[in-house]
Amino acid sequence: MFGLVGRAVESLYYVCVGLWTVAKHTGRAPITKEFPDTMPDLPGAFRGRLALAVNPETSEHLCISCRQCERVCPDKCIDITAHKSPETGKLELIDFKIDHGLCMFCGLCTEVCPTTCIINTNDFEMSDYSREALIYDLKKLTLTQDESAHYFSKKYLPIPKPKPKPAPKPAAAAAKPADGVAAPAKPAPPAAKPAEGAAAAKSAPAATDKPAGDAAATKPTAEKKADDSKDSEKEKAAPEPSAAEGKAEPDKTEG
Ligand code: SF4
Ligand code: SF4
Repeated sequence: MFGLVGRAVESLYYVCVGLWTVAKHTGRAPITKEFPDTMPDLPGAFRGRLALAVNPETSEHLCISCRQCERVCPDKCIDITAHKSPETGKLELIDFKIDHGLCMFCGLCTEVCPTTCIINTNDFEMSDYSREALIYDLKKLTLTQDESAHYFSKKYLPIPKPKPKPAPKPAAAAAKPADGVAAPAKPAPPAAKPAEGAAAAKSAPAATDKPAGDAAATKPTAEKKADDSKDSEKEKAAPEPSAAEGKAEPDKTEG
């Protein structure tokens, strides 16, 4: 009998507790979210869809193609394509693929990334109609400048320093000195040319001398010719007197 009364009192007590709880929350605003009309405000550490952040200030890509995320991934769902730039000698990212159909959102890739490039976003709505559509490429993974700034702020990550812009320029500048080094080699031929010029200059005077000599030689020859012509004229003129003399001589002998 006493046991039955005790259980009835205990039941009434719990009924009153329940009614008191209902009375307390009757005037309160609801704390539940009506998803998908209202999106939940998730914490920054929530591990949702993976994405590649850019520098929020300069919008440059942060991935340096080190492949640490690719190596650490236990599901092997990251595929990076990169090549070594012939100009800068550094790795350049060509494509970045993540298969979200394989990913288990462990966050290991985000832990090892040295540039805080790959991050877990708060996006968890990735349902699609095929598994191929769950493979995100570089374009689909890359966040905008505003989205990157939002997640850097939400995850309390330091803003990365901008990459050194003149990276390719030093190579060009290094190439210029090389040209400069090669340039002196080019002037060498000109230096040789002057030598040739000097030789020519040496020969030139000889040539000039020669012409002078030739001129001098020609002058004498001309003079000689003139003299010869004079002599020939004299000789031509001379025989006449000699002939006259010859003619005169017989006259003398005759006389
Ligand atoms: S979260 Fe884990 S499983 Fe997913 S890509 Fe990163 S390392 Fe791989
Ligand atoms: S660890 Fe970071 S920087 Fe290195 S390849 Fe992955 S995303 Fe790029």
